[in-house]
Amino acid sequence: MSGILLLLTQSVVYFIVMAALFRCRAVLGLGAFFCALGVMHFLETYLAAVFFIELPFGLISPGSTVLFSGKLAIILLFYIREDAEAVRQPIYGLLMGNFLMVTLVAMLRLSGPPVALPGYNPDLALIDQMGLLMVWGTTLLFIDAIALILIYERLRGLLARSLVVRAWLSLAIILSFDQVAFFVGLHWVTGTPWSALFGGWIAKMGAAVVYAACLGVYLAVFEKKAEESAPEPLADIFHKLTYRHKYEVLLGATSRDALTGAWTRERFTALAPTMLAQAIDSGRPCSLLMIDADHFKQINDSQGHIAGDAVLRRMVETIRAHIRGDDRIFRYGGEEFVVLAPDLGAAAATMAAERIRKAVATEFAGDGVPAPTISVGVATAPDEGTGLEGLLRLADSRLYEAKRLGRNRVVAGPAVAGGGQTMP
Ligand code: GH3
Ligand code: MG
Ligand code: MG
Repeated sequence: MSGILLLLTQSVVYFIVMAALFRCRAVLGLGAFFCALGVMHFLETYLAAVFFIELPFGLISPGSTVLFSGKLAIILLFYIREDAEAVRQPIYGLLMGNFLMVTLVAMLRLSGPPVALPGYNPDLALIDQMGLLMVWGTTLLFIDAIALILIYERLRGLLARSLVVRAWLSLAIILSFDQVAFFVGLHWVTGTPWSALFGGWIAKMGAAVVYAACLGVYLAVFEKKAEESAPEPLADIFHKLTYRHKYEVLLGATSRDALTGAWTRERFTALAPTMLAQAIDSGRPCSLLMIDADHFKQINDSQGHIAGDAVLRRMVETIRAHIRGDDRIFRYGGEEFVVLAPDLGAAAATMAAERIRKAVATEFAGDGVPAPTISVGVATAPDEGTGLEGLLRLADSRLYEAKRLGRNRVVAGPAVAGGGQTMP
Protein backbone atom coordinates (compact mmCIF):
# COMPACT_ATOMS: atom_id res chain seq x y z
CA MET A 1 0.00 0.00 0.00
CA SER A 2 2.76 2.43 0.97
CA GLY A 3 4.48 1.72 -2.37
CA ILE A 4 1.35 2.64 -4.31
CA LEU A 5 0.97 5.78 -2.21
CA LEU A 6 4.57 6.68 -2.93
CA LEU A 7 4.08 6.35 -6.70
CA LEU A 8 0.79 8.27 -6.53
CA THR A 9 2.38 11.11 -4.58
CA GLN A 10 5.32 11.24 -6.95
CA SER A 11 3.01 11.35 -9.98
CA VAL A 12 0.95 14.19 -8.54
CA VAL A 13 4.05 16.18 -7.54
CA TYR A 14 5.53 15.62 -11.00
CA PHE A 15 2.34 16.76 -12.72
CA ILE A 16 1.83 19.80 -10.48
CA VAL A 17 5.34 21.14 -11.08
CA MET A 18 5.37 20.47 -14.83
CA ALA A 19 1.82 21.77 -15.32
CA ALA A 20 2.67 24.88 -13.26
CA LEU A 21 5.66 25.59 -15.53
CA PHE A 22 3.41 25.09 -18.53
CA ARG A 23 0.70 27.27 -17.02
CA CYS A 24 3.21 30.08 -16.46
CA ARG A 25 4.37 29.94 -20.09
CA ALA A 26 3.05 33.44 -20.77
CA VAL A 27 5.23 34.85 -17.96
CA LEU A 28 8.29 32.57 -18.00
CA GLY A 29 8.32 31.70 -21.68
CA LEU A 30 8.04 28.15 -22.95
CA GLY A 31 11.82 27.73 -22.60
CA ALA A 32 11.52 27.09 -18.87
CA PHE A 33 9.04 24.31 -19.50
CA PHE A 34 11.14 22.81 -22.31
CA CYS A 35 14.31 22.80 -20.19
CA ALA A 36 12.57 21.13 -17.28
CA LEU A 37 11.16 18.49 -19.61
CA GLY A 38 14.59 17.84 -21.10
CA VAL A 39 16.39 17.69 -17.77
CA MET A 40 13.83 15.24 -16.42
CA HIS A 41 15.08 12.81 -19.04
CA PHE A 42 18.59 12.70 -17.62
CA LEU A 43 18.24 10.19 -14.80
CA GLU A 44 15.01 8.70 -16.00
CA THR A 45 16.53 5.95 -18.14
CA TYR A 46 18.94 5.03 -15.35
CA LEU A 47 16.12 4.90 -12.83
CA ALA A 48 13.95 2.89 -15.22
CA ALA A 49 16.73 0.34 -15.59
CA VAL A 50 17.95 -0.10 -12.02
CA PHE A 51 15.48 1.21 -9.46
CA PHE A 52 12.56 -1.09 -8.70
CA ILE A 53 10.15 -1.20 -5.79
CA GLU A 54 8.12 -4.23 -4.84
CA LEU A 55 4.33 -3.99 -5.08
CA PRO A 56 1.71 -6.75 -4.61
CA PHE A 57 1.40 -7.20 -8.39
CA GLY A 58 5.11 -7.21 -9.21
CA LEU A 59 8.26 -5.15 -9.51
CA ILE A 60 7.64 -1.52 -10.38
CA SER A 61 10.05 1.03 -11.76
CA PRO A 62 9.26 4.59 -10.64
CA GLY A 63 11.37 5.85 -13.55
CA SER A 64 8.94 4.26 -16.02
CA THR A 65 5.73 4.65 -14.06
CA VAL A 66 6.09 8.19 -12.81
CA LEU A 67 8.62 9.93 -15.02
CA PHE A 68 8.15 8.31 -18.41
CA SER A 69 4.34 8.09 -18.22
CA GLY A 70 4.25 11.62 -16.82
CA LYS A 71 6.30 12.93 -19.69
CA LEU A 72 3.86 11.50 -22.22
CA ALA A 73 0.92 12.98 -20.27
CA ILE A 74 2.64 16.38 -20.22
CA ILE A 75 3.35 16.16 -23.95
CA LEU A 76 -0.33 15.40 -24.52
CA LEU A 77 -1.36 18.36 -22.35
CA PHE A 78 1.02 20.52 -24.33
CA TYR A 79 -0.54 19.36 -27.57
CA ILE A 80 -4.10 19.91 -26.30
CA ARG A 81 -3.42 23.47 -25.22
CA GLU A 82 -1.03 24.43 -27.99
CA ASP A 83 -0.84 22.55 -31.29
CA ALA A 84 1.10 20.09 -33.43
CA GLU A 85 3.60 22.74 -34.53
CA ALA A 86 4.46 23.57 -30.93
CA VAL A 87 4.55 20.05 -29.51
CA ARG A 88 6.88 18.72 -32.18
CA GLN A 89 9.59 21.00 -30.76
CA PRO A 90 10.16 19.05 -27.51
CA ILE A 91 9.53 15.76 -29.33
CA TYR A 92 12.39 16.46 -31.75
CA GLY A 93 14.48 18.21 -29.10
CA LEU A 94 14.41 15.16 -26.82
CA LEU A 95 15.28 12.88 -29.73
CA MET A 96 18.21 14.98 -30.93
CA GLY A 97 19.53 15.76 -27.43
CA ASN A 98 19.55 12.12 -26.41
CA PHE A 99 21.20 10.94 -29.59
CA LEU A 100 23.85 13.63 -29.22
CA MET A 101 24.47 12.51 -25.63
CA VAL A 102 24.80 8.87 -26.64
CA THR A 103 27.10 9.76 -29.56
CA LEU A 104 29.43 11.80 -27.34
CA VAL A 105 29.56 9.04 -24.72
CA ALA A 106 30.22 6.43 -27.43
CA MET A 107 33.16 8.53 -28.71
CA LEU A 108 34.62 8.62 -25.20
CA ARG A 109 34.17 4.90 -24.75
CA LEU A 110 35.78 4.09 -28.09
CA SER A 111 38.75 6.31 -27.26
CA GLY A 112 39.73 3.96 -24.45
CA PRO A 113 39.28 3.60 -20.70
CA PRO A 114 39.30 6.69 -18.47
CA VAL A 115 42.28 7.54 -16.28
CA ALA A 116 42.13 5.56 -13.06
CA LEU A 117 41.65 7.81 -10.05
CA PRO A 118 42.12 6.65 -6.48
CA GLY A 119 38.80 5.96 -4.78
CA TYR A 120 36.81 6.10 -8.07
CA ASN A 121 35.44 2.99 -9.62
CA PRO A 122 33.63 3.90 -12.82
CA ASP A 123 31.01 1.34 -13.86
CA LEU A 124 31.72 1.27 -17.59
CA ALA A 125 29.43 -1.68 -18.28
CA LEU A 126 26.58 0.39 -16.87
CA ILE A 127 27.44 3.32 -19.13
CA ASP A 128 27.35 1.00 -22.15
CA GLN A 129 24.02 -0.48 -21.06
CA MET A 130 22.57 2.97 -20.51
CA GLY A 131 23.73 4.08 -23.93
CA LEU A 132 21.90 1.19 -25.59
CA LEU A 133 18.80 1.77 -23.50
CA MET A 134 18.86 5.50 -24.22
CA VAL A 135 18.89 4.86 -27.97
CA TRP A 136 16.02 2.39 -27.67
CA GLY A 137 14.03 4.44 -25.14
CA THR A 138 14.47 7.68 -27.04
CA THR A 139 13.39 6.11 -30.31
CA LEU A 140 10.35 4.67 -28.58
CA LEU A 141 9.53 8.01 -26.94
CA PHE A 142 9.58 9.65 -30.34
CA ILE A 143 7.20 7.04 -31.77
CA ASP A 144 5.06 7.07 -28.60
CA ALA A 145 4.62 10.85 -28.57
CA ILE A 146 3.54 11.05 -32.20
CA ALA A 147 1.29 7.98 -31.97
CA LEU A 148 -0.23 9.27 -28.72
CA ILE A 149 -1.36 12.49 -30.38
CA LEU A 150 -2.68 10.68 -33.45
CA ILE A 151 -4.65 8.20 -31.32
CA TYR A 152 -5.98 11.03 -29.16
CA GLU A 153 -7.17 12.78 -32.33
CA ARG A 154 -8.56 9.57 -33.81
CA LEU A 155 -10.69 9.10 -30.68
CA ARG A 156 -12.15 12.58 -31.07
CA GLY A 157 -14.79 11.27 -33.46
CA LEU A 158 -15.88 8.55 -31.03
CA LEU A 159 -15.56 10.44 -27.76
CA ALA A 160 -16.04 14.02 -28.87
CA ARG A 161 -17.29 15.27 -25.53
CA SER A 162 -15.04 13.63 -23.00
CA LEU A 163 -11.52 14.87 -23.32
CA VAL A 164 -10.40 13.10 -20.13
CA VAL A 165 -11.59 9.69 -21.33
CA ARG A 166 -9.85 10.32 -24.66
CA ALA A 167 -6.64 11.27 -22.85
CA TRP A 168 -6.84 8.22 -20.59
CA LEU A 169 -7.52 5.77 -23.41
CA SER A 170 -4.79 7.11 -25.66
CA LEU A 171 -2.30 7.10 -22.76
CA ALA A 172 -3.30 3.54 -21.82
CA ILE A 173 -2.85 2.29 -25.40
CA ILE A 174 0.54 3.96 -25.87
CA LEU A 175 1.86 2.98 -22.44
CA SER A 176 0.86 -0.65 -23.10
CA PHE A 177 2.74 -0.60 -26.38
CA ASP A 178 5.71 1.12 -24.76
CA GLN A 179 5.83 -1.26 -21.81
CA VAL A 180 6.19 -4.29 -24.06
CA ALA A 181 8.59 -2.61 -26.49
CA PHE A 182 10.87 -1.03 -23.86
CA PHE A 183 10.84 -4.14 -21.75
CA VAL A 184 12.09 -6.32 -24.57
CA GLY A 185 15.10 -3.99 -24.81
CA LEU A 186 15.53 -3.81 -21.06
CA HIS A 187 15.44 -7.57 -20.66
CA TRP A 188 17.86 -8.04 -23.52
CA VAL A 189 20.35 -5.43 -22.23
CA THR A 190 20.15 -5.78 -18.45
CA GLY A 191 18.37 -9.11 -17.96
CA THR A 192 15.57 -7.57 -15.91
CA PRO A 193 13.24 -10.45 -14.88
CA TRP A 194 10.03 -10.98 -16.86
CA SER A 195 8.04 -10.55 -13.62
CA ALA A 196 8.66 -6.83 -13.98
CA LEU A 197 6.86 -6.75 -17.35
CA PHE A 198 3.36 -7.39 -16.05
CA GLY A 199 3.81 -5.40 -12.83
CA GLY A 200 5.14 -2.47 -14.83
CA TRP A 201 2.17 -2.64 -17.16
CA ILE A 202 -0.33 -2.55 -14.28
CA ALA A 203 1.53 0.42 -12.82
CA LYS A 204 1.49 2.24 -16.14
CA MET A 205 -2.26 1.64 -16.47
CA GLY A 206 -2.61 3.23 -13.03
CA ALA A 207 -0.43 6.10 -14.21
CA ALA A 208 -2.71 6.59 -17.24
CA VAL A 209 -5.70 6.98 -14.91
CA VAL A 210 -3.90 9.33 -12.51
CA TYR A 211 -2.39 11.52 -15.21
CA ALA A 212 -5.62 11.71 -17.25
CA ALA A 213 -7.40 12.81 -14.06
CA CYS A 214 -4.68 15.41 -13.33
CA LEU A 215 -4.99 16.64 -16.90
CA GLY A 216 -8.77 16.95 -16.57
CA VAL A 217 -8.49 18.86 -13.30
CA TYR A 218 -5.83 21.17 -14.70
CA LEU A 219 -7.84 21.99 -17.83
CA ALA A 220 -11.08 22.43 -15.90
CA VAL A 221 -9.54 24.71 -13.27
CA PHE A 222 -6.86 26.68 -15.08
CA GLU A 223 -7.69 26.71 -18.75
CA LYS A 224 -11.44 26.51 -18.67
CA LYS A 225 -12.09 29.32 -21.12
CA ALA A 226 -9.76 28.08 -23.82
CA GLU A 227 -11.49 26.15 -26.57
CA GLU A 228 -10.07 22.90 -27.83
CA SER A 229 -8.40 23.19 -31.20
CA ALA A 230 -10.60 22.45 -34.18
CA PRO A 231 -10.36 18.92 -35.58
CA GLU A 232 -8.04 18.42 -38.51
CA PRO A 233 -7.47 15.50 -40.87
CA LEU A 234 -5.09 13.01 -39.21
CA ALA A 235 -2.73 13.14 -42.18
CA ASP A 236 -2.32 16.91 -41.71
CA ILE A 237 -1.52 16.49 -38.02
CA PHE A 238 0.98 13.76 -38.83
CA HIS A 239 2.68 15.95 -41.41
CA LYS A 240 2.89 18.82 -38.96
CA LEU A 241 4.28 16.59 -36.21
CA THR A 242 6.98 15.38 -38.56
CA TYR A 243 7.89 18.79 -40.04
CA ARG A 244 6.53 17.91 -43.44
CA HIS A 245 3.66 20.36 -43.36
CA LYS A 246 4.93 23.28 -45.32
CA TYR A 247 2.20 24.44 -47.63
CA GLU A 248 0.56 26.68 -45.03
CA VAL A 249 3.84 28.48 -44.55
CA LEU A 250 4.32 28.80 -48.29
CA LEU A 251 0.85 30.20 -48.71
CA GLY A 252 1.36 32.51 -45.75
CA ALA A 253 -2.00 31.40 -44.49
CA THR A 254 -2.57 31.44 -40.75
CA SER A 255 -5.34 29.78 -38.83
CA ARG A 256 -6.61 32.84 -37.02
CA ASP A 257 -7.91 36.02 -38.48
CA ALA A 258 -5.63 38.83 -37.29
CA LEU A 259 -8.40 41.37 -36.62
CA THR A 260 -11.00 39.31 -34.80
CA GLY A 261 -9.22 36.15 -33.71
CA ALA A 262 -11.88 34.02 -35.40
CA TRP A 263 -10.65 31.07 -37.49
CA THR A 264 -9.94 32.06 -41.07
CA ARG A 265 -11.91 31.29 -44.20
CA GLU A 266 -9.01 29.00 -45.26
CA ARG A 267 -9.44 27.13 -42.02
CA PHE A 268 -13.14 26.79 -42.71
CA THR A 269 -12.42 25.28 -46.11
CA ALA A 270 -9.99 22.83 -44.51
CA LEU A 271 -12.00 21.92 -41.40
CA ALA A 272 -15.68 22.20 -42.16
CA PRO A 273 -15.93 19.09 -44.38
CA THR A 274 -14.22 16.98 -41.67
CA MET A 275 -16.38 18.36 -38.85
CA LEU A 276 -19.52 17.78 -40.90
CA ALA A 277 -18.48 14.28 -41.96
CA GLN A 278 -17.61 13.31 -38.36
CA ALA A 279 -21.04 14.43 -37.17
CA ILE A 280 -22.87 12.62 -39.96
CA ASP A 281 -20.81 9.42 -39.57
CA SER A 282 -21.63 9.26 -35.88
CA GLY A 283 -25.33 9.93 -36.49
CA ARG A 284 -25.34 13.36 -34.84
CA PRO A 285 -26.60 16.65 -36.18
CA CYS A 286 -24.38 19.60 -37.04
CA SER A 287 -25.66 23.15 -37.51
CA LEU A 288 -24.29 26.01 -39.50
CA LEU A 289 -25.03 29.64 -38.59
CA MET A 290 -24.35 32.27 -41.22
CA ILE A 291 -24.03 35.65 -39.52
CA ASP A 292 -23.82 39.08 -41.17
CA ALA A 293 -23.53 42.46 -39.44
CA ASP A 294 -26.43 44.76 -40.26
CA HIS A 295 -25.83 48.07 -42.02
CA PHE A 296 -22.14 47.82 -41.44
CA LYS A 297 -21.36 50.29 -44.21
CA GLN A 298 -23.24 52.93 -42.23
CA ILE A 299 -21.20 52.16 -39.12
CA ASN A 300 -17.98 52.62 -41.09
CA ASP A 301 -19.30 55.75 -42.74
CA SER A 302 -20.48 57.40 -39.56
CA GLN A 303 -17.83 56.24 -37.08
CA GLY A 304 -14.85 55.50 -39.27
CA HIS A 305 -13.14 52.23 -40.19
CA ILE A 306 -11.09 52.03 -37.00
CA ALA A 307 -14.25 52.11 -34.91
CA GLY A 308 -15.78 49.63 -37.36
CA ASP A 309 -12.86 47.27 -36.75
CA ALA A 310 -13.35 47.53 -32.99
CA VAL A 311 -17.03 46.72 -33.40
CA LEU A 312 -16.13 43.59 -35.39
CA ARG A 313 -13.72 42.48 -32.67
CA ARG A 314 -16.30 42.96 -29.95
CA MET A 315 -18.91 41.23 -32.05
CA VAL A 316 -16.73 38.12 -32.32
CA GLU A 317 -15.99 38.21 -28.58
CA THR A 318 -19.71 38.33 -27.88
CA ILE A 319 -20.46 35.48 -30.28
CA ARG A 320 -17.62 33.44 -28.75
CA ALA A 321 -18.99 33.93 -25.27
CA HIS A 322 -22.27 32.41 -26.39
CA ILE A 323 -21.09 29.29 -28.20
CA ARG A 324 -19.91 26.03 -26.68
CA GLY A 325 -16.38 24.68 -26.51
CA ASP A 326 -16.82 22.44 -29.56
CA ASP A 327 -18.36 25.14 -31.72
CA ARG A 328 -16.13 27.05 -34.11
CA ILE A 329 -16.42 30.57 -35.37
CA PHE A 330 -14.89 31.48 -38.73
CA ARG A 331 -14.54 34.86 -40.39
CA TYR A 332 -16.17 34.01 -43.68
CA GLY A 333 -15.96 37.45 -45.28
CA GLY A 334 -15.51 41.09 -44.24
CA GLU A 335 -18.29 41.28 -41.64
CA GLU A 336 -19.70 37.83 -42.24
CA PHE A 337 -19.08 34.95 -39.88
CA VAL A 338 -19.94 31.27 -39.87
CA VAL A 339 -20.44 29.27 -36.70
CA LEU A 340 -20.22 25.48 -37.03
CA ALA A 341 -21.92 23.73 -34.15
CA PRO A 342 -21.54 19.94 -33.99
CA ASP A 343 -24.19 18.08 -31.99
CA LEU A 344 -26.65 20.94 -32.26
CA GLY A 345 -30.03 20.10 -33.81
CA ALA A 346 -32.12 22.66 -35.71
CA ALA A 347 -34.19 23.83 -32.74
CA ALA A 348 -31.23 24.13 -30.37
CA ALA A 349 -29.19 25.89 -33.06
CA THR A 350 -31.98 28.40 -33.63
CA MET A 351 -32.14 29.08 -29.90
CA ALA A 352 -28.36 29.50 -29.79
CA ALA A 353 -28.51 31.87 -32.77
CA GLU A 354 -31.22 33.84 -31.04
CA ARG A 355 -29.12 34.09 -27.86
CA ILE A 356 -26.20 35.36 -29.93
CA ARG A 357 -28.37 37.88 -31.75
CA LYS A 358 -29.78 39.23 -28.49
CA ALA A 359 -26.35 39.37 -26.87
CA VAL A 360 -24.94 41.40 -29.78
CA ALA A 361 -27.93 43.72 -29.81
CA THR A 362 -27.65 44.39 -26.07
CA GLU A 363 -23.82 44.44 -26.00
CA PHE A 364 -23.68 47.60 -28.07
CA ALA A 365 -26.87 49.32 -26.90
CA GLY A 366 -26.36 52.60 -25.07
CA ASP A 367 -23.14 53.60 -26.83
CA GLY A 368 -24.96 56.68 -28.09
CA VAL A 369 -24.69 55.69 -31.74
CA PRO A 370 -26.96 53.30 -33.66
CA ALA A 371 -26.27 49.88 -32.08
CA PRO A 372 -24.77 47.29 -34.43
CA THR A 373 -26.92 44.21 -34.81
CA ILE A 374 -26.63 40.96 -36.72
CA SER A 375 -28.85 38.82 -38.89
CA VAL A 376 -28.49 35.04 -38.86
CA GLY A 377 -29.45 32.21 -41.19
CA VAL A 378 -29.46 28.68 -39.72
CA ALA A 379 -29.20 25.34 -41.54
CA THR A 380 -28.81 21.88 -40.01
CA ALA A 381 -27.31 18.59 -41.20
CA PRO A 382 -28.35 15.89 -41.82
CA ASP A 383 -32.06 16.92 -41.87
CA GLU A 384 -31.56 19.67 -44.42
CA GLY A 385 -28.72 18.13 -46.35
CA THR A 386 -25.38 16.48 -45.79
CA GLY A 387 -23.20 18.46 -48.20
CA LEU A 388 -21.36 21.54 -47.00
CA GLU A 389 -22.12 23.55 -50.09
CA GLY A 390 -25.86 22.91 -49.84
CA LEU A 391 -25.92 23.87 -46.17
CA LEU A 392 -23.99 27.06 -46.86
CA ARG A 393 -26.38 27.98 -49.66
CA LEU A 394 -29.38 27.29 -47.42
CA ALA A 395 -28.02 29.29 -44.48
CA ASP A 396 -27.10 32.11 -46.84
CA SER A 397 -30.56 32.27 -48.38
CA ARG A 398 -32.06 32.38 -44.87
CA LEU A 399 -29.67 35.15 -43.92
CA TYR A 400 -30.83 37.02 -46.99
CA GLU A 401 -34.42 36.43 -45.90
CA ALA A 402 -33.59 37.83 -42.42
CA LYS A 403 -32.22 40.96 -44.07
CA ARG A 404 -35.30 41.28 -46.24
CA LEU A 405 -37.59 40.96 -43.26
CA GLY A 406 -35.92 43.89 -41.54
CA ARG A 407 -32.57 42.62 -40.08
CA ASN A 408 -31.65 41.93 -36.44
CA ARG A 409 -33.31 38.52 -36.59
CA VAL A 410 -32.74 34.79 -37.01
CA VAL A 411 -34.25 32.74 -39.80
CA ALA A 412 -34.20 28.95 -39.55
CA GLY A 413 -35.85 26.08 -41.46
CA PRO A 414 -39.61 25.57 -41.55
CA ALA A 415 -39.32 22.57 -39.20
CA VAL A 416 -38.31 24.80 -36.31
CA ALA A 417 -41.19 25.98 -34.09
CA GLY A 418 -42.42 29.52 -34.73
CA GLY A 419 -42.18 29.24 -38.50
CA GLY A 420 -38.40 29.31 -38.27
CA GLN A 421 -38.17 33.02 -37.68
CA THR A 422 -37.38 34.90 -34.50
CA MET A 423 -37.58 38.61 -34.17
CA PRO A 424 -36.28 41.23 -31.78
P1 GH3 B 1 -26.50 44.65 -44.62
O1 GH3 B 1 -27.31 44.87 -43.40
O2 GH3 B 1 -27.32 44.47 -45.83
O3 GH3 B 1 -25.52 43.53 -44.43
O4 GH3 B 1 -25.70 45.99 -44.82
P2 GH3 B 1 -24.15 46.20 -44.82
O5 GH3 B 1 -23.87 47.66 -44.82
O6 GH3 B 1 -23.54 45.44 -43.71
O7 GH3 B 1 -23.80 45.61 -46.23
P3 GH3 B 1 -22.65 44.68 -46.65
O8 GH3 B 1 -22.71 43.43 -45.86
O9 GH3 B 1 -22.72 44.53 -48.14
O10 GH3 B 1 -21.37 45.55 -46.33
C1 GH3 B 1 -20.29 45.12 -45.59
C2 GH3 B 1 -19.44 46.28 -45.18
O11 GH3 B 1 -18.54 45.86 -44.18
C3 GH3 B 1 -18.62 46.83 -46.30
C4 GH3 B 1 -17.21 46.92 -45.79
O12 GH3 B 1 -16.70 48.21 -45.91
C5 GH3 B 1 -17.35 46.59 -44.32
N1 GH3 B 1 -16.23 45.79 -43.87
C6 GH3 B 1 -15.83 44.59 -44.33
N2 GH3 B 1 -14.72 44.17 -43.67
C7 GH3 B 1 -14.41 45.14 -42.78
C8 GH3 B 1 -13.38 45.29 -41.83
O13 GH3 B 1 -12.50 44.43 -41.63
N3 GH3 B 1 -13.38 46.41 -41.06
C9 GH3 B 1 -14.32 47.38 -41.24
N4 GH3 B 1 -14.28 48.46 -40.49
N5 GH3 B 1 -15.30 47.26 -42.14
C10 GH3 B 1 -15.37 46.17 -42.90
MG1 MG C 1 -23.66 43.36 -43.56
MG1 MG D 1 -21.86 41.34 -45.68
